[in-house]
This record gives sequence, C-alpha cells and structure tokens, in this order.
Amino acid sequence: KAKESSGGNYCIYEKYMDFRSLDSIKLESDLNKALQNNEFQIYYQPQVDFLNKKIVGVEALIRWKHPLRGMISPMEFISIAEETGLIVPIGEWVLKTACKQVEEWHDQGFPPIYLSVNMAAQQFKQKSLIPMIHAILEETGLSPEFLVLELTENAIIKDTEATICVMKQLRELGIRIAIDDFGTGYSSLGYLKNFPIDTLKIDQTFVKDIVQDKNNAAITNTIISLAKNLNLNVIAEGVETQEQIDFLLSSNCSYMQGYYFSRPVSGSDVEKLFYATITN
Ligand code: C2E
Ligand code: MG
Ligand code: MG
Ligand code: MG
Repeated sequence: KAKESSGGNYCIYEKYMDFRSLDSIKLESDLNKALQNNEFQIYYQPQVDFLNKKIVGVEALIRWKHPLRGMISPMEFISIAEETGLIVPIGEWVLKTACKQVEEWHDQGFPPIYLSVNMAAQQFKQKSLIPMIHAILEETGLSPEFLVLELTENAIIKDTEATICVMKQLRELGIRIAIDDFGTGYSSLGYLKNFPIDTLKIDQTFVKDIVQDKNNAAITNTIISLAKNLNLNVIAEGVETQEQIDFLLSSNCSYMQGYYFSRPVSGSDVEKLFYATITN
C-alpha cells in the first residue's frame, strides 16, 4: 500500500516537473528574442564614499521588461541565460550600453565615476573576452580606469591558471576587478593572494543583520581587515539603515552601496541624483 501511494505522488511530481520545464522553455525562447526586441534595460545603483559624501561609482544591473510578464528580476533569468549561453551576448550588450552611458555622463561634466559590471563565469572564459572589451572601450570612449568587472568567488575558482591570466591582461588594460558577494562562495583565503584583484564586496547577507547578529558582525569585520591587510578596497553591499552605516564607519569601511542611498534606478534618475549631490 505504501508503494502504491508513493507511486501516486511520483506521478504528481512528474506532472509538476513537466509544467515547470515548459514554463522555463517558454522563458528561454522569450529570452532568445529579448535582445533583438530591445526588452532589456540597465538600472544603475550608486556606490558612495560616505566620508566624502560622494557618489564614486555605479553598478549596472540588468532588467528585463517582458511584454507580457512585466519586469523580470535578473535573479529569475540570469541562470537561464547562463545555462543556454545567452549570457555571452547579453553580457556584451550590458557592457556596451553601460560604458556608453557612463562615458556620456563624463562628457556632460558629471563627476567622474566608476562603472561596475557583473560578469558571469562563462563570459570570462570566452577567448574573445579581451578583444571584445577592448573594442567596446574604444567604441564608447570610456577610459579603462573607470571600468570595474565584478566576479563571484565561484566564477574564479574553476580554472585558476586561466583566470589569473585573463585577470592580468585586464589589469594591463587598466581595468579593475572586484569579487562580488564575498564570503558566500568557496574560494580559500590562500587563493585570494594569487588573484590580481582590487576590491572585495562584502555580501549583503552579512551586512543585513550586522547590528543584531554577532557572527555577521565578526565576519564583516574580518573581511574589512582582510581587505586592508591585502591592500584591497572594500565596499559593503545591501546597506539599508543608519545603524549599519555607523557600524561600517567604526570598522573603517566607508564605501557602501544599498537602498539607504538609492535603489537601482534608470539612467535619467541617476542624473537627478548627480544634480542633488552637486547642489547639496
Ligand atoms: P549583485 O551583483 O550582488 O547585485 C546586488 C543586488 O542586490 C541587486 O539585485 C540589487 O538591486 C540588490 N540590492 C542592492 N542594495 C540592496 C539593499 O540595500 N537591500 C537589498 N535587499 N537588496 C539590495 P538585482 O538587481 O536583482 O540583481 C541580482 C543579481 O543578478 C546581481 O547580484 C547579479 O549577480 C545578477 N546580475 C544583475 N545584472 C547582471 C548582469 O548584467 N550580468 C550578470 N552576469 N549578472 C547580473
Ligand atoms: Mg554585483
Ligand atoms: Mg553582490
Ligand atoms: Mg549576487
């Protein structure tokens, strides 16, 4: 009898799976057309230096304005884009569009800011990566010193030799490298010293209850000291409250990004933020 009922459950489970895969197949074919149909948009989230009360950079974050489903978060489609390889053309589009936008801001006389762009592991493995980035910088006119590529730990630990080689070439161009979501991946501290990186981004899960949770406070402090000792920049992600700011400042971390300052916003809304900071 037990066997019978578990068989029944299995059947229901299988139907559910079919439904899921059909749904994701649909999303996948939609994703395929999204680039041609101009359905992607880039939002920008400011990164601030709290001590100097300045916007020092923006992170480009992709959005998908699906004609039927409305706004779809990258959390929902980036993994599909990675599985299908679509992340390569999508990532190239993000880089080109964001470089063009930031160079326009520089030309308009806004304070020079960095541009951070997220990179998937698959993009980083492309042989054409360096020429592609080089061509985009030439075409848009953005100086490489303003570009920061964000990679997660898991993206860089897979093929360390090759990764280090690509990172070195990027740095020779003047491009900087940040480790995103630092502390949540599988990289070992020993690896860290071998990678030619510039910045650690403290993951928002640690920052979230920095004030209430002693362990998260300890991890955050450890990442900040680690960065200082290795001569790396450090920036805290997901900063939402004054209490978190106070904690970070007392721990000597003044670079922050989070809803407290601004959610990711459209390009024209970033310009309003620039005006607000200039006139303050
Ligand atoms: P991420 O690179 O770690 O980006 C930070 C995420 O945290 C963003 O979510 C941002 O909106 C959110 N965030 C920022 N401040 C706060 C805060 O104070 N509180 C909370 N709760 N959240 C905050 P978003 O835009 O949904 O992006 C999610 C992830 O999708 C990104 O995480 C990144 O891994 C990926 N992603 C986004 N755009 C791209 C892209 O162009 N290429 C690639 N490969 N991945 C991307
Ligand atoms: Mg990021
Ligand atoms: Mg992050
Ligand atoms: Mg992330």
